[in-house]
Amino acid sequence: MSKVNKTVRAYSIKLTDEQFEAFDKLFNEYAKVENEMLKRFCGIQYMSDICKWSIIRDKIRAEQNKIKENRKTDDNNNNEGNDSKKSKNSKDNKNNKNNKNNNCNEVVKNTENTKNEKNKLTTPKLLTEKYEIQGWHWVMATKHACSTLHSMWSNLGSRLKTLVRDNKNLTPEMRAYCYYILSAIPYWQKVLLREPFDKIPEKLATLMSKLTDEELKKCNSYICRSTRTHKPYPEVKNARCMMYDVNMYKFTDDCTVKIMSNIPKEAIEIKLRGPFCYKKTGDIQLIFDRDKKRIEIHKLIKARATQTTSKIEIGPDKGFATLLSCYSGNEYGYEFGELVTERSDYLNERNTNRNIIFDRQRKLKDEISELDKAINKTTDDSIRIPLIRKKKEQERKLQTLETNNIGNKKFNREQTKAKETIKNKVNYSIKLMLDVEDPCTVGLEDLTWQSDKSKGKKMNRRLSLWNKGYLDERIEYIGSTRGIKTIHVNAAYTSQYCAKCGAKIEKRIGDHHEIAVCPNCGEINANTNASGNIEGRIHDPEITIYTPYHVVKDILDRRYAEKCNKIKLIKAI
Ligand SMILES: [Zn+2]
Repeated sequence: MSKVNKTVRAYSIKLTDEQFEAFDKLFNEYAKVENEMLKRFCGIQYMSDICKWSIIRDKIRAEQNKIKENRKTDDNNNNEGNDSKKSKNSKDNKNNKNNKNNNCNEVVKNTENTKNEKNKLTTPKLLTEKYEIQGWHWVMATKHACSTLHSMWSNLGSRLKTLVRDNKNLTPEMRAYCYYILSAIPYWQKVLLREPFDKIPEKLATLMSKLTDEELKKCNSYICRSTRTHKPYPEVKNARCMMYDVNMYKFTDDCTVKIMSNIPKEAIEIKLRGPFCYKKTGDIQLIFDRDKKRIEIHKLIKARATQTTSKIEIGPDKGFATLLSCYSGNEYGYEFGELVTERSDYLNERNTNRNIIFDRQRKLKDEISELDKAINKTTDDSIRIPLIRKKKEQERKLQTLETNNIGNKKFNREQTKAKETIKNKVNYSIKLMLDVEDPCTVGLEDLTWQSDKSKGKKMNRRLSLWNKGYLDERIEYIGSTRGIKTIHVNAAYTSQYCAKCGAKIEKRIGDHHEIAVCPNCGEINANTNASGNIEGRIHDPEITIYTPYHVVKDILDRRYAEKCNKIKLIKAI
């Protein structure tokens, strides 16, 4: 029986205001640490290290210990103060810059202990002082960041491989070498750092032996250039996810869990809506839903996959107007495009209205400052008093505007809701497709390389509400829980040839180009036709995911020509 990864979720009951505030702070601080780690280790010099997160953890731990040791020696030299007192001082120092009373105190201390203070300015702070977290938190934030960076590099590798595939200046041998490098992070790193490889495995040696020095140089510089152009800079924007290991949470019963807070020995106890019936050990993810005021616990478990006896293979065509079309003629998620368009246009309109309000707010603020200037210029009460009255009136208007109409909260909530609606539609359509078609294998067009440049601003805005990657991800996931395999296939020319007879499609007609015209078969559904071609690619020995698009075209044209010749021969006989 095969096992699949499955995420199980549990939800807390509504948090109290006090709990909400505590979590809000904790998640924000954790995200800050995570961002610091993402920023620090996203460079090429750490590419290999982040694959094993414990290397990074040990490196930071060593730094932290060094800071502590330095302090101890400082303390011994000065014969006064202790660690905790000192760390508190340095924190206060920063927080209360504007606080006069405190500054006086500091001044006294400074004169007593000038040397020590000087050291504090130059020695870095511990992570637990810089951020209000405990030691465990930075360890997990580091693990979290490493896993984000690792997927960043492997996603970038897949993306660059498709660029290599479609680069006409590279020979097939050069491509094979590039594919190898882009799949093996340690070698990729060496290329980027322009360092020689330590050890060359046999496979790589064979690939390299087929290249001239010139070609090898060309490949390496292409890898460097394209990596630099396409490398993203990951960042946590909305602090809503924390990774916790077994030491940081504790179930006191099936429905109650104690979660480590940022204060030592003060766990936050939350109640779950229902019993948590899975193993209560291992890493969990805490998701903070600020709108619903609750915590979600996500845990990855190994679940038994249901086996399918089906022999059917499908290659759904993924579209915007219609989400999924199959060669059987069935289509799923008909009104998908309309749904996204409607939601996105509504949000856009809301945004425009908000801009009008922001405009008004700015104008009121300008007016108030103008009035202020005028009031200060004159001492004549007959002029001053009406101006003051006018100013007060404008201030009242501004306040009303700010309390009633401005605020990102509602807007963000609506945006999240729109995304949820779209996600529900996607999941529903996938499940329906898998139920009706009952496949054992799903071929998916590899869309990583497609650029959205040509679609225009409006379309991009609409597409930003949902990302195409989500659809693939969900098909793969839902499929895996049912024992269905997913295979990525080459996407080149799937919509430009007839799936039935192999002829090149003459033209596309219809309001949304939904009808394809084949010279032999006449008008056919463009989406389901593409699906037929995708299905065919699952076992195509000639057209693999790495076949360049111009080669795909040559193959398809050759096949059709051969077929026509055969028919001519049969007719002649
Ligand atoms: Zn045809």
